[in-house]
Amino acid sequence: MAKTPWVDQDECISCGLCTENVPGVFRMADNGKAECYNPGGASEDVIQSEAIDMCPVECIHWKE
Ligand code: SF4
Repeated sequence: MAKTPWVDQDECISCGLCTENVPGVFRMADNGKAECYNPGGASEDVIQSEAIDMCPVECIHWKE
């Protein structure tokens, strides 16, 4: 099974970076925190480099 990114919303500071960089995968949820709504919306490389590596609080993780 492909890896799925998930956002630890307890840590997310709602900066919007992941939703701007990878809008096909991440969006802001009703609670104002980022969420992964479409794990297949970008390649794993893009998710890693444009979202996971860029998140200022490192709260996006892979779920195997
Ligand atoms: S980049 Fe990190 S802190 Fe910013 S909105 Fe996304 S998950 Fe939250």
